[in-house]
Amino acid sequence: MASIKSDTSIKEYQDFIQEVYGLPNDRYFDMSNMLNNVNRFAMRGMKGIRKNDKEKATNNFIISSSWFLSIMNQLHVDVEQETWERFPFMCSYCASCPCVCKEKKVEKRQKVIIDETKRPKTIQEFQDMFRVLYHPEGRTLADAGIHLAEELGEFSESMFKYRGSHNADEFQKVTLEAADVISCLMGVFNSLDVNLIEELSERFYNNCHVCHKAPCSCSFIFVTEFKS
Ligand SMILES: [Zn+2]
Ligand SMILES: [Zn+2]
Repeated sequence: MASIKSDTSIKEYQDFIQEVYGLPNDRYFDMSNMLNNVNRFAMRGMKGIRKNDKEKATNNFIISSSWFLSIMNQLHVDVEQETWERFPFMCSYCASCPCVCKEKKVEKRQKVIIDETKRPKTIQEFQDMFRVLYHPEGRTLADAGIHLAEELGEFSESMFKYRGSHNADEFQKVTLEAADVISCLMGVFNSLDVNLIEELSERFYNNCHVCHKAPCSCSFIFVTEFKS
């Protein structure tokens, strides 16, 4: 039985997604289908924000994140590592903690310095790190949602370019945009005041959150018509 627990790391969550959804993903979904699902469920999450429906938002952003990790699995990208290298307990742009991009009107991306001793170990610790870096009080929930939408757009664009060119520089951009997506997802959960690991472990306590099998045995048509 595959499960998410209170001390699960991002890497372990990614491995969990592979164990549970790797097989149906390989059989039913190509990369563009999966990208479509990342965006499809994220946009339902946005509707949850607009309607002030915390549960709808949380549920859909979690489903979106699982599709996102499926893409990372197919690309063999360690998203925890990429996230850490881009956000090593400092803002990826101003290289400060907390971020001072707004106050100081930082115009050029600063070089981040990685101190491995500060590296968060669990999903909880990553969420806490992002709360310190980007205070939820400094933005509205709607702004956090719009920022996530922006980053999903940039991620999709980088995927589109990479899939067309198969070029190493474009692949590098995909990994950077992936880290930005994780940062903004954490930002949305922080703005929603949702404890991500609690929500994940409530859903993924036993394999697939719907059929409870590993590999997941939800049918293609069930997934395409899934209501959330
Ligand atoms: Zn900053
Ligand atoms: Zn299932």
